[in-house]
Amino acid sequence: MAVQQRKTVVTETTKTETTTTTTKNVDHQVGKTWGRDRDVSFGTILISLGILVMSPIWVLYTYISCNGYECAMSAPALEVYNAPDALVALKALLARELPTFSPYAARLFFTWLTLQAVLYAFLPAQIGYGQRTPAGHLLPYKVNGLLAWVISHTIYAAGGLYFGWWKLSIIHDNWGGLLIAANAYGYFLTFFCYIKAHLFPSHAADRKFSGSFIYDLLMGIEFNPRFGKYFDFKLFHNGRPGIVAWTMINLSFAAAQYQKIGYVTNSMILLNLLHATYVLDFFYNEDWYLRTIDIAHDHFGFYLAWGDSVWLPWLYTLQSHYLVRNPVDLTPIQFGFIFAVGYTGYFIFRSVNHQKDIVRSTNGECMIWGKPAKVIRTSFVTSDGKTHKSLLLCSGYWGLSRHFNYVGDLLISLAMCMTCGTKHLLPYFYIIYMTILLLHRIQRDHTRCKGKYGKYWEEYMKAVPYKLIPYVY
Ligand code: NDP
Repeated sequence: MAVQQRKTVVTETTKTETTTTTTKNVDHQVGKTWGRDRDVSFGTILISLGILVMSPIWVLYTYISCNGYECAMSAPALEVYNAPDALVALKALLARELPTFSPYAARLFFTWLTLQAVLYAFLPAQIGYGQRTPAGHLLPYKVNGLLAWVISHTIYAAGGLYFGWWKLSIIHDNWGGLLIAANAYGYFLTFFCYIKAHLFPSHAADRKFSGSFIYDLLMGIEFNPRFGKYFDFKLFHNGRPGIVAWTMINLSFAAAQYQKIGYVTNSMILLNLLHATYVLDFFYNEDWYLRTIDIAHDHFGFYLAWGDSVWLPWLYTLQSHYLVRNPVDLTPIQFGFIFAVGYTGYFIFRSVNHQKDIVRSTNGECMIWGKPAKVIRTSFVTSDGKTHKSLLLCSGYWGLSRHFNYVGDLLISLAMCMTCGTKHLLPYFYIIYMTILLLHRIQRDHTRCKGKYGKYWEEYMKAVPYKLIPYVY
């Protein structure tokens, strides 16, 4: 067997990984679906086109529902449907409700974006490492999101409360203009990355071309587009401006509620708490995020470029938009129940993710639920022909189901929606969306891991047959 052992230094990320230079006798070659599909069907292209067209329309629709109809989801559609001339009614509605360009909001948005870029590039940072890419790269990332979050929120609060530069409701007050600016940037970034992937890619061997312009535009071609060594488009755009903005938007809508009714409802406080917990957890564990599917699997196209710029900040915060228009005062029992659901979800979410991290960083030499961790030792091949080793945990939460972390996430998401009471469907968009997203992710992850691990993944599936909820699914 012509195998030359060469242990590589990957202590920064997973101590489990060793590299073996090999010329033959590999367990299986790198799967073409490890990363994403290359040969996309006509049906997939049609669905991709649907997503490209419908996503911006849906964001706009929720904006109009909240801005003009107190977040009653069906109201704009019913107005048009019930009108004697639907087309005339639609034109009138759009003329009245569509957001308009505002130079002030555009300045706000691009100042915000620049601030985040400066903080990302220049704040002191630890260097974290992602998963090995299908082409064999192990990329370094600047991890300084928590500090960027603290500085951003300090500037926002000090500017509003101490210096009087703006009202704390500034984001709420400019929501329509910000939507236009964010869309302009989201589209620019999508097309820029499409062109960059062709003309000056960061890691050419990690690109994937599907042969479909539409699919490539939606799902992206480059895996890790970057400026220089560290300015990573994926980590930057998902973390900041996207996730830093999340808590700030909520605070601004809480301030707007205060201005409107003279106090902040306990539902708004609980919502802010739950969202802040989720966001701060993300930044506190930013290094862990480098090895999740977002970073380790998704390429950078409209899905992430426009998604991080528009979809995330506009739709993940819908509950606070709702609560400004429809204040909800929770009874102590309701408050306690939602709090319990949310924080049980958070506890599960964090503990499951922690188990995976700890088992990987100790090479399986750790205790899980008081017993030695049970693991399947695996190997996989990258497209440069090298074999690498890894492991799959199959005890603890990872023995209950293959994605128990998603159960925790779904519980937190449900609690966030429940803060809005039960009168309207719109604030429940988040849990509906998360359910679809995570179920689809289970399927995507299965395809990816089967391509990456082959027979080891089959072994894991036998050991842990359930995907999400033990004995149910
Ligand atoms: P995971 O963190 O579960 O990562 C899946 C990857 O982990 C697999 O591709 C595989 O990658 C590795 N893996 C799978 N099984 C095992 C095992 N038994 N032992 C060790 N490693 C294993 O999934 P996500 O990245 O989707 O999610 C991370 C978190 O983020 C979740 O808690 C999720 O709920 C949350 N999330 C939130 C979203 C939001 O918008 N709010 C969106 C999506 C996710 P490999 O072997 O290559 O390392």
